[in-house]
Amino acid sequence: MEQVQRVADDGLKVKAWEMYQRLLEHYGHQPNIPRREPMHELISTILSHRTTGRNEDLAYERMMERFGSWEGVQDAPVDELAQAIAPANFAEQKAPRVKEVLRRIIAERGAANLDFLREMPLNQAMTWLTALPGVGPKTASLVLLFCFARPVLPVDTHVHRVSQRVGLIGPKVDATAAHPLLVALFPADAQVLYNFHITTLRHGQQICVWGTPRCERCPLTSICNWYQVNRAPRAALP
Ligand code: SF4
Repeated sequence: MEQVQRVADDGLKVKAWEMYQRLLEHYGHQPNIPRREPMHELISTILSHRTTGRNEDLAYERMMERFGSWEGVQDAPVDELAQAIAPANFAEQKAPRVKEVLRRIIAERGAANLDFLREMPLNQAMTWLTALPGVGPKTASLVLLFCFARPVLPVDTHVHRVSQRVGLIGPKVDATAAHPLLVALFPADAQVLYNFHITTLRHGQQICVWGTPRCERCPLTSICNWYQVNRAPRAALP
């Protein structure tokens, strides 16, 4: 079993496991089948920042149609690349970032290929990925978990919000800091972490939404800090 940083309070681990089981029952098992090849996952995730999945896909398709290969994207004039990925928003920032990521990977590895991450020690793989421009722990974890079934946990806005409301992390812990804290609550098992990521994300999209959460439909009320403070019926005073 691989280790990232796994020090956590036992009570929180019990709570995290209970949350995991309830969400699994509610949303079902999520098989971790790679959806994209690793370079595609990495570059698409960079394109996905602050845009919709549909626009991310459109930007990716236009980029590959226009430049044909990773080497073509790397060598593309930055303004032409920005034009191609315009549907993804913030194209002027993303275009130089994508080019620099490709330049570094190709210069260091000799090709736009991330397969070496499958065998690299996990901490080293995280460090390597997060040293790339525009690649934070969420993007690095997505690539490692989705493409190589490495036991890490991507914390997106939904996973962060739901975990915070339930009380797995404190109210002041931001998404970046939440990565090592949340992963430490679970076994170092990629399928468990994938299930937790996907079911918590769905929960954040459908029930524990931004704004007013739909607690009346939630299976987590009895273990949720936010619910206990804000919604739980109070015992009648004598
Ligand atoms: S009980 Fe409400 S606040 Fe807590 S996780 Fe469920 S929907 Fe979110």
